[in-house]
Amino acid sequence: MVLNAVLARRDHPTANQLYQDIRAFNPRISRGTVYRNLKILADSGEIHHLNVAGIEHFDWRLAAHSHLVCTECGALSDVLLPYEDRLDQVLAEQTGYEITGHHTFFEGRCPACQSKQSQGGQPQGEQPQGEQSKAELPKADLSEIKP
Ligand SMILES: [Zn+2]
Ligand SMILES: [Zn+2]
Repeated sequence: MVLNAVLARRDHPTANQLYQDIRAFNPRISRGTVYRNLKILADSGEIHHLNVAGIEHFDWRLAAHSHLVCTECGALSDVLLPYEDRLDQVLAEQTGYEITGHHTFFEGRCPACQSKQSQGGQPQGEQPQGEQSKAELPKADLSEIKP
């Protein structure tokens, strides 16, 4: 039942979210039972277990994949980039470790948080804005330096 609750979601629920899900159709289940079963499932490799900024998340997707986390709201999503075997090889050569795999976390601000912050300004600033401000900075510096 706990495993089904993880599989029913297609995101990265926390133990508490899963407890709420399961309790919705099984009000008698205790938090301890849910948490204990999550640990058993994670230990046996039936689900994955992630720790992001001190918060535990569970992941139904077992294939190697990376994650993208929003540094403002903590939203966590999967990144389906091709797995780079090369990185494991490079690191094995550099460190002498037998590398069993790697897991990349990308950090940034999700579109929702970006649009929240630009309230009053442009609704959604994208690439052209960034390039302009980069190009403008050196010009401004030069004009200030010149007499
Ligand atoms: Zn966000
Ligand atoms: Zn994931």
